Amino acid sequence: MHNIMSPVLLTVLTFSAWFLASYLYHGLGITLGYHRLLTHSSVKLPKWLTYLICSGGYLALMGSPAVWVSVHRLHHQKSDMEGDPHTPMDGFMHALVGWMTNVHAFQTDEEIYRQAKDLVNDPVYKSLGLTHSASQAQLCIASCVAFRVLLYIIGGPIAVVANLIASVTVFFSTQFVNTVCHLPSHGYKTFESNDNSRNVWWVALLTLGEGWHNNHHAIPKSARHGLKWYEIDVTWYTISLLEKLGLAKDVVLPSNRIMEQRQLKITQNLTKTLETASK
Ligand SMILES: [Zn+2]
Ligand SMILES: [Zn+2]
Repeated sequence: MHNIMSPVLLTVLTFSAWFLASYLYHGLGITLGYHRLLTHSSVKLPKWLTYLICSGGYLALMGSPAVWVSVHRLHHQKSDMEGDPHTPMDGFMHALVGWMTNVHAFQTDEEIYRQAKDLVNDPVYKSLGLTHSASQAQLCIASCVAFRVLLYIIGGPIAVVANLIASVTVFFSTQFVNTVCHLPSHGYKTFESNDNSRNVWWVALLTLGEGWHNNHHAIPKSARHGLKWYEIDVTWYTISLLEKLGLAKDVVLPSNRIMEQRQLKITQNLTKTLETASK
């Protein structure tokens, strides 16, 4: 029994270790790297660590960092309005994946330069592409394939299978933020925001904290998205750990006053609605 179980147990443990490592590498690459570091400057890390973390996002098929940042900044500016590149108001499948095929219609290459002018002169981000072109996407796809070949050489088929399952889950979880977290039928709102953004717990678990999307739209620069004790935010815990290690600096957190002011509006609106209803 011992001889039969041991290889199976070893396979399960090896798979789990590769899956967990891959999930954190690619997941944090997007949430901490592309999103909180590059797009919103919610925290500062040494350059080498920023590149290392962002590589996880690039190798999860997120495309060039500068282009990703410019699309996401546009999303914040036009959230759920005309010109939002991925609102479910234009259809669920459009917001899930369809928008990637016609993002040119929402954003010109010149506008990428304007939106991401803090990144376009960085030699690494520049080399990964600054346009919505086929060559930029092809470079990312080729890099993703090369990375998995390298993984096969290092860890064999179990490593590659675990990594692929983690990568696909991370990729679609990110798209759930664009879709589910902008559907009024899901989750809850804590703050006033000029859009349909919602806090959805299961998206937050899958996306290492990004599903607290109403909190994020209300206070975009905050390094912490899960603002209540039960709003689990693995990306924030990572930032906190990096700060304790002396690696993270200039961590942006909302003051109690800002949070109370924005929460108060909801209470005031609710009071107004109740008063109107009782008249
Ligand atoms: Zn959003
Ligand atoms: Zn954002």
